[in-house]
Amino acid sequence: MPKIHNFGAGPAKIPEEVYDILKNEFNNFDGTGISLLETSHRSGTYLKLNKDVQDVVRRLLNVPDNYKILFLSGGGQGQFAAVPLNLISRTGTADYVVTGAWSAKAAKEAKKYGKVNLVLPPTDRYDGIPDQSTWNLDPNASYVHICTNETIHGVEFDFIPDTKGVPLVADMSSNFMSKKVDVSKFGVIYGGAQKNIGTAGVALVIVREDLLNQALPICPSILDWTVNAKANSILNTPPMFAIQVMGRVLQWIERQGGLDKMAEMATKKSSLIYDVIEQSNGFYYAPVAKNARSKMNIPFRIGNADEALEKEFLKGAEALNLIQLKGHRDVGGIRASTYNAVTVEEVQTLVKYMKEFYQKHS
Ligand code: PMP
Repeated sequence: MPKIHNFGAGPAKIPEEVYDILKNEFNNFDGTGISLLETSHRSGTYLKLNKDVQDVVRRLLNVPDNYKILFLSGGGQGQFAAVPLNLISRTGTADYVVTGAWSAKAAKEAKKYGKVNLVLPPTDRYDGIPDQSTWNLDPNASYVHICTNETIHGVEFDFIPDTKGVPLVADMSSNFMSKKVDVSKFGVIYGGAQKNIGTAGVALVIVREDLLNQALPICPSILDWTVNAKANSILNTPPMFAIQVMGRVLQWIERQGGLDKMAEMATKKSSLIYDVIEQSNGFYYAPVAKNARSKMNIPFRIGNADEALEKEFLKGAEALNLIQLKGHRDVGGIRASTYNAVTVEEVQTLVKYMKEFYQKHS
């Protein structure tokens, strides 16, 4: 099998070393002689894994003691519902900072459970983050929701907003564990695992303890953070294999040098791509403002959105085993995702192809 370079936005590349570990332990987990797939979630074996994965999350992000770490089903979108169900009761209203398709979806879901104040003027051109001085924050909001990295539009926060004491809730699905984050500045951080930290089936939720115990009475137990915290994330049968994979990915991140190393590599990899775009005299075009350009998902167009040429680019890329580079169907074009598992060498291979394609067609 030739080497495949996977730039998919998610489910995304898992480090090769992690596959070796998973293969080894697949049908003999932790020396038990059986797979975790057929192990009781109430067993000591699973309790240990549950603790080990919580511990590595706490170490990597330096999570303070007054935050619970939860592993929940339902992915990122499960939490779009869980956030208002758990938090909106305080005032009945919440602030949503919509900077792309995913935060728009989160806001839409929240409207089912309370009043939603849109902090930014509505737009369908998500190409930056307006200066915080222009934001329409409601001091009465129960919380302020942001998506720290918009996977489709490639818009990433390079700052933590000042919400004047209102709890800040962040969807980090697509840049979780790509850099250090001061967890104490957030009320809640959540994300699906299938991009930077594992595989689909589990959402990682980090919640400050004082925000528990206020879920709406209609909140299903399975989405209730307080109920799940009390049950140590074993309320029902958890997505155990997804949690096993997440643990092995997080332990791999730790062995690589932790989040500082991931951040250094993300800057290096994304700069390689943005630099070719900038130096192409407009042949390639990145729509997002420089201060909000994502280091994880890099959408770009060719020419003035020349779809025929973009198709040719994607075909040529596939022939070189550079795969899953097609932009999301809502925006078209090309998108290179450079998550933690994607190596600098792989990005260099892509960049070489981008340069050759540009030279051939300009
Ligand atoms: N938030 C963001 C930023 C995402 O990129 C995604 C998935 N692409 C989601 C939420 C939804 O995640 P899930 O598919 O796990 O529900």
